[in-house]
Amino acid sequence: MSYIRNTHALVKQGLISEEKSEAITKVAEKFQISLSPEVLANMDKAEIREQYLPSEKELDIKEQELNDPIGDQKFTPIKGITHRYPDRVLLKPLHTCSVYCRFCFRREKVGQAEEILSQNELEHALQYIRKNKNIWEVILTGGDPLSLSPQKLGAILDKVEAIAHVKVIRIHTRIPLVAPEKISASLLNVLDREKALYLILHCNSHKELTENVRLGIKKLCKAGLPLLSQSVLLKNINDSVEKLEELFRSLVEIRIRPYYLHHPDLAQGTSHFRVSLERGRQITSDLRKSLSGIAQPLYVLDVPGGLGKVPAGGEFIQATEDEAWKIRTIHDTFVDYQDYL
Ligand code: SF4
Repeated sequence: MSYIRNTHALVKQGLISEEKSEAITKVAEKFQISLSPEVLANMDKAEIREQYLPSEKELDIKEQELNDPIGDQKFTPIKGITHRYPDRVLLKPLHTCSVYCRFCFRREKVGQAEEILSQNELEHALQYIRKNKNIWEVILTGGDPLSLSPQKLGAILDKVEAIAHVKVIRIHTRIPLVAPEKISASLLNVLDREKALYLILHCNSHKELTENVRLGIKKLCKAGLPLLSQSVLLKNINDSVEKLEELFRSLVEIRIRPYYLHHPDLAQGTSHFRVSLERGRQITSDLRKSLSGIAQPLYVLDVPGGLGKVPAGGEFIQATEDEAWKIRTIHDTFVDYQDYL
């Protein structure tokens, strides 16, 4: 099986009907399509299909949806860098991924060839990190940094690790879940660092943890890499206590510590995935009754406009009389928020 990246191949494989192909081609003009062989082999599960198979529902773009839902642009001092919090930066060497998740919060950017950093731009981004001595942690994201060749990734990691004030490196990736064959000896070799390197794996359903995925994760564990997960709360995929409990228990059982559960962002054409904040708070509160603390991620909301993440379950968020929410941001300011389902 090979990658599927266009409507024609989806129709040929019987994954979408001929009648839907016109609408899906329109979706593909705006938001990239890519399904990996690992994902394609798992398409009999609704939780997998919903995440990767493009839908005509994506053409329904709500007025309140944003093309930069978490406000990255506002905190981009230089191409490839997002500097929102003082002690850490995002370094985005590329904006391509092996798969394109239909709910992606960076869907306006991912898949765009012009968003890949040139050598010169990468050097400028690294120079920004060198000059800012309060940067303690560098988070490689994008796009998916593990879709770079081990040599290219290794060259970037060498340069980041050589910056004395950077003490921690983090890589956000979907690769171990969608292309586990890429966890090769050469990749493990370049991830073997003197400085702490954490891998944050994006996983939304225990059904993603196939045999191949588990084998790949075992290799990462054996290589001594600390593994954390992040998940997105998604309608019809994991929006129940039972489904999330199964996901988080399964992750802990294979040595991945659940880190964040993200409230879905206001990304364009994703309203069919959104769950209300009220429901998210109820589910996560119920999870506290049954689930071990080691398996409980922090439920967070990225406040639109680049105002940073706040815990979505606690005192940062209060219901208002008109069925909306008042949010205390990390800057101790207050903003109004609505779900726009
Ligand atoms: S892997 Fe991450 S960045 Fe890439 S499409 Fe999925 S959610 Fe977006």
